[in-house]
Amino acid sequence: MHTVYFLLGANLGDRAATLQRALEAIQIDLGPVLLQSSLYETAAWGVTEQPAFLNQVLKVLSVFPAEEMLEKTQAIENRLGRVRREKWGSRVIDIDLLYVDETVLNSEKLTVPHPFLHERRFTLVPLSEIAPAFEHPVFHKTNRQLLAECPDKSDVRKWVP
Ligand code: ATP
Ligand code: CA
Ligand code: CA
Repeated sequence: MHTVYFLLGANLGDRAATLQRALEAIQIDLGPVLLQSSLYETAAWGVTEQPAFLNQVLKVLSVFPAEEMLEKTQAIENRLGRVRREKWGSRVIDIDLLYVDETVLNSEKLTVPHPFLHERRFTLVPLSEIAPAFEHPVFHKTNRQLLAECPDKSDVRKWVP
């Protein structure tokens, strides 16, 4: 059994409804959602001329190996209507693997822990809400520490419908 943290992101359409549908699909296709963070709204990062994102982190229990988790979450993205255009562009849904247990993995298709996790407040804020004391297996710092040391100053706010 694997413990995996997913980051969900959406910045097109009914963002909160899409995040809810993604959570339900993950429960069915991957396994039970043990914890879910609040929803956070964040100005777009990287390519900034686009609508704001809603982000959420989920803690999930899954029997599948990491590469299969990626395939399954990409299938969910496609089902929910994701169209791949420019890198870091607008999207209906994005599902990234942040951590899979203490696994460190670098293949052509999958890097775990997620390579930008520690550089992004929109990832660290929801992650620290549900897993403050979990330690990054490469940096050997907790999520709470990574957030405190993160140079990203972007505004990440709890989202109220
Ligand atoms: P970023 O990874 O910087 O957040 P992105 O989410 O916009 O960018 P995508 O276009 O969604 O990037 O994904 C590009 C590729 O990244 C995927 O096809 C996948 O093979 C690869 N990838 C590598 N590591 C991961 C990971 N930890 N989680 C999800 N995808 C990953
Ligand atoms: Ca992403
Ligand atoms: Ca992605």
